[in-house]
Amino acid sequence: MIPEDIIERAYMGTTTKEDALKLLEVRPFELYALADQLRYEAVGDNVTYVVNRNINFTDKCVGTCGFCAFKDKKGYLLSPEQIREKIDEAVASGATELCIQGGLMEDVKLDLYLDILRAVKEDHNHIHTHCFSPMEVYHAATSSGLTIDETLTELKKNGLNTMPGTAAEILADRVREIICPRKITRQQWIDIVTAAHQAGIRTTATMMYGHVETWEERIDHILTIRDIQKNTGGFTEFVPLPFMPYNNRIGEEILKNGQFMTTGVEDLKVYSLARILLNTHIENIQVSWVKLGKKLAQVALLCGGNDLGGTLMEESISRSAGASNGEVITVEELEWLIRAAERTPVQRDTLYRSIL
Ligand code: SF4
Repeated sequence: MIPEDIIERAYMGTTTKEDALKLLEVRPFELYALADQLRYEAVGDNVTYVVNRNINFTDKCVGTCGFCAFKDKKGYLLSPEQIREKIDEAVASGATELCIQGGLMEDVKLDLYLDILRAVKEDHNHIHTHCFSPMEVYHAATSSGLTIDETLTELKKNGLNTMPGTAAEILADRVREIICPRKITRQQWIDIVTAAHQAGIRTTATMMYGHVETWEERIDHILTIRDIQKNTGGFTEFVPLPFMPYNNRIGEEILKNGQFMTTGVEDLKVYSLARILLNTHIENIQVSWVKLGKKLAQVALLCGGNDLGGTLMEESISRSAGASNGEVITVEELEWLIRAAERTPVQRDTLYRSIL
């Protein structure tokens, strides 16, 4: 049984780290049910999704993240024409959002990022650009001798609408030292995302879990996201992303030590805790069908999730690391999954406004 005071704090949006640790000890279905009830109170029975296209413009990268199975696999860089072609296809198929990210190329300055944004906006001014992780913003800024604020201002001026809150991994420097020692630190991620929000660029927030971190570090990560949100209000959603352990160094070490990837029960606990810890602060908990697979993603809608993310059209980062759930999902199939969970599908834009 979940103690009354923990339930009370969950409703008030003041769940503590100790509460979260206690919740991990209750029977999983009780935890899932509390998250489901909070989801219902926060957003009702609608389950949203966005029609979008993912474009990873290059896999060339000077980064050394030990969990990455994407970097330098093919050594490609899309030409401006190829990017334009993909954008045209996305628009023709009804996409409202372009999610554009890439590796960190040597000797590349802010201009490359601005050129991509201009290519989108020149041809299709109405489409929403959801581009460039905090790590890419940092890379563009340092390679161009600019401050983060100057970089964000330029990006916004040239058509950046929102940013993916990726590169967060686990916001604990102990973990980052092991899995991605050359990536921005916990504090740098917080500072860049905060600066983006202050510049009027909203972002998502992510957490890549299931490698070397502890439950306490996961909970601290979610509480850090909550603190930023209290300060800026700039997050649109939180997206827990289970780690894919194939074709990368960290994953190989984990598998060698007799561990496997996260289990379904664990994934659902993470989604439930995210809903509970973020209640009253972030309304939208996005479920990743790419990482969880379509069937578990559907079940996660009963454990705190209220959004199924995007149709994507193409996906290469998770696929390289062993995800086998496909690169695209149709609107029909997404709606089928949502209805079968006895919920109402609603197409949304990037800012969670419904598209009728
Ligand atoms: S995760 Fe991103 S920054 Fe890190 S090595 Fe891979 S492509 Fe580079």
